[in-house]
Parts: sequence; C-alpha cells; structure tokens
Amino acid sequence: MSLHGDYDPQNIFALILRGDAPCYKIYEDADVLAFLDIFPQSRGHVLVIPKACQARNILDVEPAVLGAMMSAVQRLTRVVVDELKPDGVQIAQFNGAPAGQTVYHIHVHIVPRWEGEEAGIHGRGKADPEELKLLQARLVERIRAGD
Ligand code: 5GP
Repeated sequence: MSLHGDYDPQNIFALILRGDAPCYKIYEDADVLAFLDIFPQSRGHVLVIPKACQARNILDVEPAVLGAMMSAVQRLTRVVVDELKPDGVQIAQFNGAPAGQTVYHIHVHIVPRWEGEEAGIHGRGKADPEELKLLQARLVERIRAGD
C-alpha cells in the first residue's frame, strides 16, 4: 500500500515545512524548499520538496507542482556542481517502499557522485552536524553569489 494511500501530515517533511522540525535549509521560494539530507548518500546530498502540496509521490502530484519542483532541481543541481565539483550527479525520485521511498511527501534527491566512491541507494549513517553546517553555508553562499 505504500504506493497508494492518504497523505500523512505528520511525515517528517511536512513537519519541516511547518517549522516543527529543523533542517539545513539551502534554498526556499514560493514553490519549493531544499535542504541537506541528514543521512546522506554522499557529501552535498540535497532534497527538494514542493511546499503547498500534499502529494505522496509522482502519481499524486499536480503537473504544475512537479514542473516547479524540477525547475528548482535543475537550478540547484547547477549550484551543487559549481560549488562541490563532483564527477557526476544523480537525480533520484522514489515512489513506494519497494522502490526505495521512506518519506511520503514527494521529493527529489540531488546526489553528487565522485569517481571511486561507492554509490548506495540510502546513506549509511547520520552526517556530522558540523560538516552539514559547512556545506549549507557553502551552498547558500553560492546561490547568493549567483542571484
Ligand atoms: P526516500 O527514501 O523517501 O526517497 O528519501 C527520504 C530521504 O529523507 C532519505 O534520503 C533520508 O535520509 C532523508 N531523511 C529522513 N529523515 C530526515 C530528516 O529528519 N531530515 C532530513 N534532512 N532528511 C531526512
């Protein structure tokens, strides 16, 4: 049933959107919020989520919301690539538990990849908060510099 069902307003991304849970925000506009994954698959792993929507996955989401989210994903991928200089970057979006989804508010992963670093679907552990703060500051500054 994880592919279908009701939206849970208590999911962690809904809490982050309401300000009821913290996040390492790197970008926000009228449509989307982007923040660092705290269980990252790589250094600089960013999540992009739509704000005014209660879509669990790609089946539920309004096309206009999807469009705004993907537009932000492209913009932020450029920021991540410019700032962190990875050798590749993976854009991922999972729908339903068997596909790897664990949080049921639609989101897109931006995962920088480096030659020689193993690529996993999910992170191996919680990131060091100091490292996340430094990455957050670098990406925020890079966005600011590009405005
Ligand atoms: P999914 O597996 O649903 O596509 O991705 C959910 C992502 O959310 C995972 O990569 C997981 O590490 C991340 N995540 C889970 N809980 C939190 C949290 O409290 N804060 C942040 N920033 N990321 C989280």
